[in-house]
Amino acid sequence: MSTKTIKERLNNLLADDFNKKPNGTIPVYREHRIFTNRNIKFSRIQALGFDMDYTLAQYRQDELDQLVQRLALSQMINEKGYPEEILSIPYKGNFAIRGLILDTELGNVLKMDKFRYVSLAYHGLKPLNSDTKVELYNIIRINLSSQRFQPVDTLFELLETYLYAALIDDLERIGKDVDFKGLYTDLRSSIDACHSNGSLKKEIMANPDRYFHDDPMLIPTLHQFKKVGKRLFVLTNSEPHYTDFVLSHLFRKANPFFHGWRSCFDIVGTSACKPRFFTEGTPVNVIEKKDSFFFSGGNFEYLANQLQIKPDRVLYVGDHIYGDILKSKQQSTWRTCIIVPELNDQIKADEETKPYLKSLLKNDSRHKQLNMELNWRRTQMQDLHQFKETEADELDLAGLQLIDERITTLNRQLEDNHKELSKLLFESRELRRQISSSFNPYWGRLFKTGGQLSMFAEQIRDNACIYTSSVSNFSYYGNHSYLSSMMIPMPHEKSLYPVGDLNFDVSMENTPVYPVEEEKV
Ligand SMILES: [Mg+2]
Repeated sequence: MSTKTIKERLNNLLADDFNKKPNGTIPVYREHRIFTNRNIKFSRIQALGFDMDYTLAQYRQDELDQLVQRLALSQMINEKGYPEEILSIPYKGNFAIRGLILDTELGNVLKMDKFRYVSLAYHGLKPLNSDTKVELYNIIRINLSSQRFQPVDTLFELLETYLYAALIDDLERIGKDVDFKGLYTDLRSSIDACHSNGSLKKEIMANPDRYFHDDPMLIPTLHQFKKVGKRLFVLTNSEPHYTDFVLSHLFRKANPFFHGWRSCFDIVGTSACKPRFFTEGTPVNVIEKKDSFFFSGGNFEYLANQLQIKPDRVLYVGDHIYGDILKSKQQSTWRTCIIVPELNDQIKADEETKPYLKSLLKNDSRHKQLNMELNWRRTQMQDLHQFKETEADELDLAGLQLIDERITTLNRQLEDNHKELSKLLFESRELRRQISSSFNPYWGRLFKTGGQLSMFAEQIRDNACIYTSSVSNFSYYGNHSYLSSMMIPMPHEKSLYPVGDLNFDVSMENTPVYPVEEEKV
């Protein structure tokens, strides 16, 4: 209960004036921002749906992964006959990032850009050299729909990726002839078994404080929507009892006096089997109708009938690029938001490396100019040589000497150009190394591959209307917010728009709606 009197609260409300905001804007720290690919008017949204795992509920990644590693490797030893030595594989939390691809035929892990070009590859924990990478992946078109290639879409799969690489490393080191496909199948089924046989959930439920982050803003964020009449629902693949346990825990931690998390939601769909939920689904089972309509199974049509809201007025929030976002986008007109908890680390590293990035962009610009200069001088030299050969009978000595002098000057200028180019290439390589070292030590930036968008970034840009690091970030935006996307020009239109080089994501500096400010509201 607020201790302020009604008069004080009224005065506070009246004192708030948009014209007094710095620069006439509403400041939101970058780490709390919602970023927009496709315009959304919040006032048009009538229902919000939330996935649970890694969306409403944020796991402590290192704690969870170490638990899964212990359970999954024990499963592989006991059920699949792997040597006990694999239990000594150290846990490494920073090997994998989302958007990687496992090549289960050759035992490699790949990072691709938006053109499906493989920019980095590891066999086990060792990088593939450039020639091998080109020979294996850059000559033929990779068919990502084949079973051979497995995407790393969720945060649950980061550990699986690391264990796949580490097991290959470990088994090859002791001289085993590794069946890469068989190893992948064994690892996947062992991790699945930990989820399905209850061993993983049993440990999580015995000590939830160890495995979940607290989020004190969760309840105020959901209430902000409830109080203006929006309908809220949960749609999760987790089973009913686990969903109930996790959300009870999170709501209790957010507010010890708050009871009955289900009163926050109109509908709760569990054991949803996404992405299948968005097509044929599974048989529905209504569990309870008190507080909220609580069911398991079902499909998109069933949920739509319960909601009774036009699909384009529904915003669904999830963390799985395929199961939550891409599939719902393909099968419906739901608006979509992807939660990317990694976003804030990327933003922090972006800020730290900004001076290097500016130098790199300056170098790249000079590099392009130098290439033009080099090409022009080479062409002029060829023209002069040709002119001298073909017109030798007509030219007098002074004319021939003028050509020679110009060729000498061009040679000197070309030499200077080459020296400058070598210096630039070396500096740029060092700058790239310094930038990469602030991001993942194995894969660099999550959203970039070289100068291009990574495949992960492209999937987010093309399939999610908006993206942000946490559900609670909605609390920084009012119910009448209009989230508008940046104008992204075609390369031939770039001179028309005041944005930076989009390849390097520096254009956020020019975003007009939510500039970075010193103080939070
Ligand atoms: Mg999830």
